[in-house]
Amino acid sequence: MGSSLALYHFLLNNGHQVQIVTPSDYPDFLDWMPGNDKVINYEHAGGKSKQLAMDAELIFCLDFNTASRMEKFADSVLASQAKKVLIDHHLDPDNFCDYTFSFETSCATCELIYYFLLELGGAECITKEISECLYTGIMTDTGSFRFSSMTSDTHLVVAALMRTGASNFAIHENIYDNFSLDRTRFLGHCIKDKLVVLPEFRTAYIAITKEELIEYNHHSGDTEGIVNYALGIKGVRLAAFFCERDHLIKISFRSKENFSVKELSSTHFSGGGHRNAAGGRSIESLDLTIAKFLSLLPGLKETLNS
Ligand code: 5GP
Repeated sequence: MGSSLALYHFLLNNGHQVQIVTPSDYPDFLDWMPGNDKVINYEHAGGKSKQLAMDAELIFCLDFNTASRMEKFADSVLASQAKKVLIDHHLDPDNFCDYTFSFETSCATCELIYYFLLELGGAECITKEISECLYTGIMTDTGSFRFSSMTSDTHLVVAALMRTGASNFAIHENIYDNFSLDRTRFLGHCIKDKLVVLPEFRTAYIAITKEELIEYNHHSGDTEGIVNYALGIKGVRLAAFFCERDHLIKISFRSKENFSVKELSSTHFSGGGHRNAAGGRSIESLDLTIAKFLSLLPGLKETLNS
């Protein structure tokens, strides 16, 4: 959302007609971002989204590396005659766009958009709105500027964004100090009742059913970040969060050091992402998905303990 909204503001400021389409809902804690009220969600406006894809001259695909991440919207985008531009930092991008700007070592697509906008419009094109959007994306993708992907150059980008109007404390508060009571209690439930630790495999996981989501009055984004509590346990190198959705199990993986969850996810769970943060999915039941995950651990034991 940060990269899309930043580019949206830049293009709008330069006289273009722009529309952001998301394939599905995104977390409520991003609703405050400037331009959010103009975003179209394919799940709520499929017809309009398809028409926009057909009429577009140029389509930017931001912050994902494979067409399937556009879910049901993918067919319309791929069928469109528009030139397509991918700007992304995930590993191993597919070749589905006319132009691919893939920088796998960058910490965030928002960092790439910052450099892209500097090239196109110079420093003066970076407005307060654009700064807020880019700051948010860099902050969330780097775990608040702490992951190994964060470089001294990125700190300079962040400093520039603060100078052009991004308020660091206001953005942190909007994202991290804005949870509903339900979400906070849900987090408590995940940690107290659902966390499983397997010291032999240096692994921890949490699995949540649809019924539990309903019980805790789940809202979009409430499950974000919960996997990190499993990873935060001393000695754990691999963490997983399984969440039962309507027709599939969505999985978040996180790891420490050299263990690649991207590899695990793309090989066994139709997913991908980064070395230490990846996602995937399963169309099996929750129990079968967990059983599959557990069955993989003995084969990974040596790597996890090395
Ligand atoms: P999260 O666990 O926060 O949903 O995602 C972690 C990382 O993996 C993000 O960079 C996200 O873009 C990527 N990711 C999540 N789910 C999938 C998926 O199903 N396929 C691919 N290729 N990447 C994913």
